[in-house]
Amino acid sequence: MTRNGLRIELARVYGFCPGVRRAVEMIEEHLAREGRVATLGAIVHNARVVETLSRKGATVAKSLEEVQAPAVAITAHGAGREIYEEITRRGLDLVDTTCPIVKRAQEVARNLARQGYTVLIYGEETHPEVRGILSWTEGKGYATMSAADLPPFKGGKLGIVSQTTKDQKAFWGFVQEVIAGIHRGIKDLRVVDTTCPETGRRYRAALELAERVQAIFVVGSRNSANTRKLAETCEHTGVPTYFIEDASELRPEWVRGLSRVGVTAGASTPDELVEEVVARLRELGGEGG
Ligand code: SF4
Repeated sequence: MTRNGLRIELARVYGFCPGVRRAVEMIEEHLAREGRVATLGAIVHNARVVETLSRKGATVAKSLEEVQAPAVAITAHGAGREIYEEITRRGLDLVDTTCPIVKRAQEVARNLARQGYTVLIYGEETHPEVRGILSWTEGKGYATMSAADLPPFKGGKLGIVSQTTKDQKAFWGFVQEVIAGIHRGIKDLRVVDTTCPETGRRYRAALELAERVQAIFVVGSRNSANTRKLAETCEHTGVPTYFIEDASELRPEWVRGLSRVGVTAGASTPDELVEEVVARLRELGGEGG
């Protein structure tokens, strides 16, 4: 895309991942049919998406106690077993938007626990997805980001899985450290790679883009961890990187004198925000960029 000399390139992969797109579509379909739903936490870390859904009848509830609507939606991050039980107990309709990749991680963790494995989850224990996976281990799992912080392993069967958004290489590095640290006690080891390729695809596409442009605009909410990391990845390339929530934050001086800029977006950023940024960049290019 060019206008008056400013070429605007989009990353090969950017924006909504399939899991988030599916979750938003499921909520929209439910709203079109039934009119109201409460989501357990924001369906995605993006204010525009939350606002748009709220205009159509979605509210955000921090817990099941807060739910006023007849239906409740579990987000793409998934939820623990006790949440499903409580939803049934309260007689609420369920819109389960758990991403199939997260669902698989939950099922793997549950099956390992049922087969007598202690389940170690590589991930942040306070993250909603990890709390959900942990819950499915029924008390036989724990989560950590560091092999150095492992609780004493009493020996026996050990299963290792990952928070889906963790880097695959980092996961396998963690597995090696765990084995090196406690190998004598392990009688049976099962490692299941439950990482999702989507986050990595956005990072790799951003790095490719950085090789071709003079500045990169990363679009997304500042409260979105994956967008923040995407921006950090771009910054590390040395190419000037601007992390913006929407087109209104774009400053004309950022593109002045440039001929080629790139745009990417985190997995929680809707297409419309990216389109608005591209449209504004076109205008700025037309203003003598
Ligand atoms: S990043 Fe992957 S696991 Fe997470 S919601 Fe998207 S597709 Fe699903």
